[in-house]
Amino acid sequence: MENKEPQIVMVATGNAHKIVEIREILSDVMPNTEFRSIKELGDAYIEPEENGLTFEENAFIKAEAAHAFTGLPAIADDSGLVVDALNGEPGVFSARWAGVHGDDAANNRKLIEKLEDISEDDRSARFVSCVAFVSDEIRFCGIGYCEGSIGFEERGNNGFGYDPLFLPDDTPGKTMAELTPQEKNAISHRRHALDALADELREIL
Ligand code: IMP
Repeated sequence: MENKEPQIVMVATGNAHKIVEIREILSDVMPNTEFRSIKELGDAYIEPEENGLTFEENAFIKAEAAHAFTGLPAIADDSGLVVDALNGEPGVFSARWAGVHGDDAANNRKLIEKLEDISEDDRSARFVSCVAFVSDEIRFCGIGYCEGSIGFEERGNNGFGYDPLFLPDDTPGKTMAELTPQEKNAISHRRHALDALADELREIL
């Protein structure tokens, strides 16, 4: 019997949780595929500047750079929080909104302050995720949303980023940080974006 070598798909993130989630959702439509982190290449790989104006642009910038460097199919995601009362802020600046990249505590303090005078009814927001897939033949981006609102104080210890302030519509009374990883993964923006990508790949592969 023929023993086919697995196809390799590069994932342009160092976040192990994201790679697990990607593998779980896409292995159904891409069997016999190894999803490998671009971080395995170490210093040889220089990450591109994420200077897109939208999540989609940034996801494509990262996936295209990884595909160009390795010659292999590549996946990258870009995500963030969109708050209606702040005209869409923090948006593509979600990770570095308060100045320092990845300072979640400062970002959350800033969000509480900016919404101080906004009533419960006007605190709607959503997480957005774009997952881009780029190969020689395919260029597609799956987009997913998680609708909710912003709480007045932080609650919960799970997750990361804005999770302690985000109240998903799907889980009334609970912040995203009060959900188990399984509960979050079932309703998250990334889950919906990956499902959209899987649907597209199912059509074309
Ligand atoms: P990245 O695209 O995963 O790097 O996320 C960019 C930023 O968006 C993060 O640093 C967080 O501030 C925010 N963000 C994205 N996804 C989530 C999430 O699932 N929970 C909380 N914050 C998130």
